[in-house]
Order: sequence, then structure tokens, then C-alpha cells
Amino acid sequence: MRVFVINCGSSSIRYQLLDSDSGRVLQKGKAERVHELEGGHGEALKEILSGLDASSIEAVGHRVVHGGDQFFDSVIVDDQVIDAIHRCDVYAPLHNPANLLGIEVAMQSTPQVPQVAVFDTAFHQSLPDHAFRYAIPQNLYQAHHVRRYGFHGTSHHYVAKQAARIIARPLNSLNLISLHLGNGASATAVKEGKSIDTSMGMTPLEGLIMGTRSGDIDPAIVFYLARQTGLGRDAVESILNKDSGLKGICGFNDMREIEMRAMEGDARAQLAFEMFCYRIRKYIGAYYAVLGRLDALIFTAGIGEKSPLVRERSCRGLTHLGIIIDPQKNDRTANEAFEIQ
Ligand code: ADP
Repeated sequence: MRVFVINCGSSSIRYQLLDSDSGRVLQKGKAERVHELEGGHGEALKEILSGLDASSIEAVGHRVVHGGDQFFDSVIVDDQVIDAIHRCDVYAPLHNPANLLGIEVAMQSTPQVPQVAVFDTAFHQSLPDHAFRYAIPQNLYQAHHVRRYGFHGTSHHYVAKQAARIIARPLNSLNLISLHLGNGASATAVKEGKSIDTSMGMTPLEGLIMGTRSGDIDPAIVFYLARQTGLGRDAVESILNKDSGLKGICGFNDMREIEMRAMEGDARAQLAFEMFCYRIRKYIGAYYAVLGRLDALIFTAGIGEKSPLVRERSCRGLTHLGIIIDPQKNDRTANEAFEIQ
């Protein structure tokens, strides 16, 4: 089956045309900074679609960032689904409207085929309430749906399945920790194949240190900063999302650049690298405790796949947990999964 897959993001559009039977990628591409274009996402996507043989497409898959607590799995898009995605706009105001635009344009261009919404949040809908609730007044959860949703679910689910394949055991028998380390980063505890805890929260700001996001901080810092600097809540939110994380610590958010500078003796880059790996180590420890038994630790996304240094540093000192990286096996990057222990 020919499937067109679209990730219509806040600033870029990535797409692939796949043969879903063989998994072969027939065509792929990326349009960047589309929000700055005249006509925005809609025009960019129309142009992408006009470069394809639309009549050969048999289904379209759409990445949707936030499905709230409405979606436990991927769904075929209809009016009710569109309304439900719209209702989740408040949680992901940059992403969900862009995702929906992608759906609308694709529905117009390929009206004859099913459109499927695939949610970043769906895999984490199996979290138990003691993991997804925050310790704030219950009425805020009930009235405003303040809870952990988690993200990167399609990635965590996919790599969990790949790990099960490689170690040749059924996924529903495995306890795993997966670490998605890209520009955004998150950790997930998978028990018997299901997500039972994850580091991103109501929004993608919580958890690991990321390229430009702070990850976990004392929430009181927000109010302290607002008082001390006179900045409004949008400005503080923007600092925590766009100017913090690795970039905030050392001025760079690209891990390649940070590793290079750290090697050359740049103290701020060394600190950023150390903080990034230390936070990962803390989450491994926490999720190990939650799982009780660990069958595999998984690294994925740009940094997870391509940085032997981050993998080594994040796992250093975890021998007592049975996590022992083999330096030779680890000194590798590849486009397929491989073992590093
Ligand atoms: P996004 O969240 O934007 O999809 P990616 O998964 O592409 O991000 O990951 C981007 C990150 O991966 C960047 O920090 C980049 O520096 C890092 N990265 C890519 N290649 C390497 C490499 N060879 N060594 C270290 N880091 C790398």
C-alpha cells in the first residue's frame, strides 16, 4: 500500500511516500521555516503534494502532537476527530493547529483515501493515575485537565518494538527504558510493553534537559523570575522553551558543536554536556526503581543514535544496575539498531 506520511510541524513540514508492505521509502523531503512563507503551511503542503502522483496515494498518515486523553491509538479522521484535535489546541498551541492544517490540505488534495491521525500522546495513555496526576488540587485536574500526557509516543513505541525484535522476545514480556534524545528529549518506562511513566508532562517542557528547553525545574522559579525581572508570563514561558536547556547553559543547542567545544576545553560546553547526561542518569535510576527489572535500555533520535559520548557518559557508573556499555560496540553510528552492551 502506498502511504503518504506527513509531519506538519510548527515551523517545518517533513514527508515521506512509503510502500507500507516493504517499508521502502519512495520519496521524502522537508520544507523548513514554512511559517515565514506567504501562504504558510497550506501553500507549502499544496506544493509538496503537487510534486507527487496524488492518485497513487492509498492512505495518508498525519502526526498529531496532542490528543489529550481522547485518543489511545491512531484513528481514521472524521469530523468528530477534527473537533477533538481542535479541543487539544490549548495544550499545544503551536503544533496542533499546524497538524490540523496538514490534515485539511491533504483531505482536499486526496479526498478519496483514508486520512489517519497518529498521536504523540497515545502510547502514554496507559500511564496509571499515580504517574499521570500532579499533586495539585483535584478540581484543576477535573476542570482544566491538568495532568501528564507525555510525548514522542510514536518514537518510544516504535523503538520498544524494535528492541523486542532484536532480543527476540515478545514486547509484552519486556521491561524497557527508552531514551529519545533529539532536540526535544524524553525518557519512558515501558512495563510489559506498555508505557507506565514518561518524563514529558502536560507539555513537552518537563523532564530531561533539551536543546532549548529547561526540562525539570523548581516551578517557583517561574514566579521568582517574573517578580525579579518584571517579565510577563509569555516571556518567561518563551525563555524556558526557547532559550534554556543546552543553549541556555552554553550558548549552543547542537550536540555536535557542544561535544567539539567541550573537547577543546570550553568549560560551559563541558558543563552543558555533563548536565545533559546527569539528568538522563537520574531518570534511568528512577525508572529502574519503578520497573523493578530492566530488560533493555534504548537510545534513539539524533543524539541517542549518533553520539557514543552521550551514551557512554549517561550510563557511566550504572554497573551496579547491570548497565555496562562496551566501548568498542558503542563507538558506532548506524541507520539500523545495534547492541552496545
Ligand atoms: P529533532 O528533535 O529536531 O527531530 P533530531 O532527532 O534530529 O532532532 O536530533 C538533533 C540532535 O542530534 C542535535 O542536537 C544534533 O546535534 C544531534 N546530533 C546529530 N548528529 C550527531 C552526532 N554525530 N553526534 C552528536 N550529536 C548529533
